[in-house]
Amino acid sequence: MNESIDSVILAQLREIVALWPAHETILPKQMHDLVAKDFELVDLTNRVSAVVAPSRIESIGELASVEFRDADGTLQRAVFRQSTEDGKWRMRSLKFQCPVCFGTGSNDGDICIGCDGSGWGAA
Ligand SMILES: [Zn+2]
Repeated sequence: MNESIDSVILAQLREIVALWPAHETILPKQMHDLVAKDFELVDLTNRVSAVVAPSRIESIGELASVEFRDADGTLQRAVFRQSTEDGKWRMRSLKFQCPVCFGTGSNDGDICIGCDGSGWGAA
């Protein structure tokens, strides 16, 4: 993992979380250029307040993901994608770890109904 990508991703994550709406589910103007065009607006219902103890930054090609804990201890995962147009990293999604299956996507061999098998966010 490239050190400079790590620091770029973390700085961007902190900037976005600082702007994250507390109640609205409308993308704030200041966030427009920080998120990807296909950013899932439903993720704004995920109440994120702080970036505590970021860990597991992984990047594969044009995608990078980082896991961190919110102030309340919830594990969160943000996915970023690097633009092929201007080289900037923009947030693709920010989802909490499913509290039913703890990110595995299944329970006792069945697809988790909490997250529909994705392990992150709500179904
Ligand atoms: Zn689940």
